[in-house]
Amino acid sequence: MNKIKAYAAASATSPFGPAMIERREPGPHDVQIEILFCGICHSDLHYARDEWHDLMPTVYPCVPGHEIVGRVAKAGSGVAKFKAGDLAAVGCMVDSDRTCPECRAGLEQFCPNQTMTYGSKDNHLGLPTYGGYSDLIVVDEHFVLHVPSNLDLAGAAPLLCAGITTYSPMRHWGVTKGQKVGVVGLGGLGHMAVKFAHALGAHVVVFTTSPSKKEDALRLGADEVVISRNADEMRKHAGSFHFILDAVAAEHDINTYIWLLRRDGNITLVGAPQKPLAVGAFGLLLGRRSLSGSLIGGIAETQEMLDFCGTQGITADVEVIPIQKVNEAYERMLRSDVKYRFSIDMASLRS
Ligand code: NAP
Ligand code: ZN
Repeated sequence: MNKIKAYAAASATSPFGPAMIERREPGPHDVQIEILFCGICHSDLHYARDEWHDLMPTVYPCVPGHEIVGRVAKAGSGVAKFKAGDLAAVGCMVDSDRTCPECRAGLEQFCPNQTMTYGSKDNHLGLPTYGGYSDLIVVDEHFVLHVPSNLDLAGAAPLLCAGITTYSPMRHWGVTKGQKVGVVGLGGLGHMAVKFAHALGAHVVVFTTSPSKKEDALRLGADEVVISRNADEMRKHAGSFHFILDAVAAEHDINTYIWLLRRDGNITLVGAPQKPLAVGAFGLLLGRRSLSGSLIGGIAETQEMLDFCGTQGITADVEVIPIQKVNEAYERMLRSDVKYRFSIDMASLRS
């Protein structure tokens, strides 16, 4: 067992501060990774503040972080995919049973016995799992990804959650050239969705509550930007979208977007607000429209997404911060004041 440095929150209302956590010595199939960058996802905030209490009450002290990029420090004797010195990445999962139908289908994110990167029970130590706001992490090689060497590492870290969460539903729903695709909420997830939809050849429309983000949205790959609080602008797009990705972290009216779908169009929810959203039946009935959800993506698809990013030169637009600024970063994220992902330089934890 190793005691290592981390940043933890002791309760839903406590700020993050330095803490020590335990990690196992790497076993034969484990990779020990020195963490170089860790993105800050809005899910980290929901979890740290116990906003998903009814579904998964937060275990304290909690160490979030599931957008992890680093370098392999040690690889177990049976590890085939990695050696010391390699770049490596870890997302939202660190284990699953690998025998259930979901795992066999490459959809480990839906495994009933999945171990999440933080807040799950660790099968090895019996402790809660701790995430990437820490010095190093030990993970079974099946859940460790390769990072294309041409990508900037600070900007690559958010691909492990914001990237795969937006890439996966677009692949599932067949987003392709010539389609009209909407992205609701230009935050960490939303800005990755714009990049992917653009790279897939779609006509991309961003819906934002922040007029100040208009120029950025166009630069990121949007063809049009709609200020979603402007009802006239919204109405112009009625019945026209093949696919809309809703990446909003707070309460909002999803019905407005359902009505923007064309016949058989789909809106996929990836945002996970604390409170339930009300859905009117008629928006779905008329036009046989559908509303669905999506959760990150499987391991094979996550590697596919990283390789796609390597080929296309896609990374997140990040603001790099030291770990000591994580509390301030959370407050700014709540004000939608991040362009477009915080990426923590984990060297700051060691200095
Ligand atoms: P984020 O960076 O905070 O972005 C959320 C965006 O939502 C904001 O930038 C803002 O965009 C918009 N927004 C915020 N408050 C709003 C309001 N009251 N009404 C309308 N729009 C509002 O968050 P994120 O990290 O991208 O995460 C987004 C959500 O996805 C979170 O709930 C997170 O937990 C969830 N998530 C889900 C998965 C999954 O697997 N399904 C994975 C990761 C994250 P504008 O300024 O453009 O309006
Ligand atoms: Zn996330």
